[in-house]
Amino acid sequence: MGKLGGFLQIERHGIPQRDPAERAHDYREFMLTRPVAELQEQGARCMDCGVPFCHNGCPLGNLIPEWNDLGWRDDWPGAIERLHATNNFPEFTGRLCPAPCETACVLGINAEPVTIKQIEVSIIDTAWDSGWVVPQPPARLTGRTVAVVGSGPAGLAAAQQLTRAGHTVVVLERADRIGGLLRYGIPEFKMEKIHLDLRLAQMRDEGTKFRPGVSVGVDVTGHDLRIT
Ligand SMILES: Cc1cc2nc3c(=O)[nH]c(=O)nc-3n(C[C@H](O)[C@H](O)[C@H](O)COP(=O)(O)OP(=O)(O)OC[C@H]3O[C@@H](n4cnc5c(N)ncnc54)[C@H](O)[C@@H]3O)c2cc1C
Ligand code: SF4
Repeated sequence: MGKLGGFLQIERHGIPQRDPAERAHDYREFMLTRPVAELQEQGARCMDCGVPFCHNGCPLGNLIPEWNDLGWRDDWPGAIERLHATNNFPEFTGRLCPAPCETACVLGINAEPVTIKQIEVSIIDTAWDSGWVVPQPPARLTGRTVAVVGSGPAGLAAAQQLTRAGHTVVVLERADRIGGLLRYGIPEFKMEKIHLDLRLAQMRDEGTKFRPGVSVGVDVTGHDLRIT
């Protein structure tokens, strides 16, 4: 668990944000990060609850107490391994998710919840910066092919898992670029596109193929996909 009694000794320090007067001049992300040492302290507030309500709050079932603890112990490679165990793209969720885990956090019943979202995004950003996020191509191919229709986060996560399982995966996307609403819906100030592009590069290196500009049902039918 985090630091014994840490939640009694350490106050929550939430996500710092850029000054609105400054950020009005560009489209860069408005959320700032804290130094790793400060985030270790924040992870130390986690009580490693016997029944961690944060698990229930997280739609992905992220193993939150485990990586809070690993962060607190300065084991960031261990933390990203646990984070990736349930989440293909923590750099997206760590920036975009409204963090129902924090609303569910037991510490929030009578104090400020653990700053889970901030710890999550710092784990993955540290992992990218440290070169720990590398392509994971399958050891062997199954000979089966899969068409994934749509390249939003749902399609990308499915495609990555299926590719790593050894299937030959093609993502078909109606729009002219890959990413769904991550590309064309979510503004840059919430998540800069570099995070999407880095993941797509990793997926290409793992073997996932992308076909933008293909509308399934118009350019190709479901029947075509079954026989090709
Ligand atoms: C302005 C905006 C801001 C948002 N901000 C947030 C946020 O801050 N936090 C958050 O958690 N969520 C946010 N969301 C919601 C989030 O973007 C969506 O929940 C998420 O993108 C859904 O993922 P998806 O993969 O299911 O679908 P999508 O991202 O919609 O992807 C579906 C893709 O399938 C393609 N497609 C559909 N039919 C076909 C077809 N027949 N052939 C080929 N391709 C097809 C579409 O072109 C699209 O690219 C926001 C959404 C918008 C619009
Ligand atoms: S509910 Fe809060 S305090 Fe309890 S394990 Fe989850 S993050 Fe830690």
